[in-house]
Amino acid sequence: MKHTTREDYRVVITPRRLGDLGWMSISDRMASSDPDRDMRERCEEITEQVKRHVDNVSSVEVQFTEVHTCSHCCLTWEVLTAVEAANPSYQQDEHSAEGEPVCCEKAIAEFRAERNIPALGGGS
Ligand SMILES: [Zn+2]
Repeated sequence: MKHTTREDYRVVITPRRLGDLGWMSISDRMASSDPDRDMRERCEEITEQVKRHVDNVSSVEVQFTEVHTCSHCCLTWEVLTAVEAANPSYQQDEHSAEGEPVCCEKAIAEFRAERNIPALGGGS
């Protein structure tokens, strides 16, 4: 018969959002000029407090998920794979290459300028 044991126990602590002020809630961007930095600092503080004040803790670490977005249009950062770059239905034009962003023209222009690839839409 199937017998279940539990192992690999963890206690997961979720830090409070920067914009969660307790008495009101605003967006994290309104609460901080650099939410990524401030959130990392908040997590480091929590880590230090747990180490100092909580018994029977073996280790504390900050974990996170990286989210990649375009700085121009804020959409998820996606780029052409080598296979897609070779497929005319994915190409912007004949100069499309592996690694070219797909979200917006500004991102594509930036990518091409860095690599001396002719810009989109005429000119050469
Ligand atoms: Zn974009």
